[in-house]
Amino acid sequence: MDWANLDFSYRKTDKSYVSNYADGAWDEGQLTGEGTITISECAGVLQYSQSCFEGLKAYTTEDGHIVAFRPDMNAARMENSAKRLEIPVFPKERFVDAVTQTIRANAAYVPPYGSGATLYLRPFMFGSGPVIGVAPAKEYQFRILATPVGPYFKGGVRSLTLCVSDFDRAAPNGTGNIKAGLNYAMSLHAIVTAHKNGYDENMYLDAATHTTVEETGGANFVFVTRDNKVVTPKSSSILPSITRISLLHIAKEYLGLEVEEREIALGEVKDFVECGLCGTAAVISPVGKIVDHGKEIVMSGTAQGMGPVTKKLYDTLTGIQMGRIEAPKGWIHIIE
Ligand SMILES: *Cc1c(COP(=O)(O)O)cnc(C)c1O
Repeated sequence: MDWANLDFSYRKTDKSYVSNYADGAWDEGQLTGEGTITISECAGVLQYSQSCFEGLKAYTTEDGHIVAFRPDMNAARMENSAKRLEIPVFPKERFVDAVTQTIRANAAYVPPYGSGATLYLRPFMFGSGPVIGVAPAKEYQFRILATPVGPYFKGGVRSLTLCVSDFDRAAPNGTGNIKAGLNYAMSLHAIVTAHKNGYDENMYLDAATHTTVEETGGANFVFVTRDNKVVTPKSSSILPSITRISLLHIAKEYLGLEVEEREIALGEVKDFVECGLCGTAAVISPVGKIVDHGKEIVMSGTAQGMGPVTKKLYDTLTGIQMGRIEAPKGWIHIIE
């Protein structure tokens, strides 16, 4: 495998994990070599988008272990997603065990240390039983697929240009805080439009007032103030990023920085010096410019790649992930 040149696209691996829910219970689950699913044409997922998902990575550490990063956090988040969508919960311990089994069965696809590539795991659940009236399905499938993906910053780190979107991502009391497939379906037109207009991503504002910063379609914001405070938006319609939660811990406990989670007005974004997007895939992507209806807001510290604070956050989190820096208890789940 040419690890360095893999992109972020689906490549079938040897095994996926599958468990089915019927008659009020999940079956014992198993690994399968079958990558195609046959379901009713009237399945809940096809008619009413009853589905949610997760994303995490397995990789090889400096000392040669295959590990996963905080899979218990993905298990907990998927439990919240499932409850909000009336999908039966897949128990957290079983989730972590299923992740472990899937990685072990695809160990040949876990890229070597230093390649920058990872084995991406995609747990997902969906209504597989037929529904015609709007109601939760009676049958479900939980699956995990594994696919190797290349280094995120292949041609080197590039600062992104964002546009303040006129579309909304999530309503107050809606589904923005869970990882539901439907949040992505409705984001596609907005992101295609942004790309057409020459932007990398959308900055979504709160849907009720369009005055505070929420997140992009698939990553949370971290900002850095002139005096090195790390600030991140607080809102009940933001997806709680495990990367963001981990970065805030690192800022406080490893770097001794002040951390603030609070509402951020669009008007104060110009006062920050660094801006990054955080998520599992990139850890942090620097944002160089945010365009608000023709008005350019330049993030001077991250205009040409990472800034001093985002770089330290990035280096510390990737150092912890790769086993070069001691991890907080429970962050690194050793597979083998
Ligand atoms: C998955 C996701 C993120 C990033 O979460 P991580 O757990 O850090 O990967 C951020 N925003 C949205 C909308 C997401 O779906």
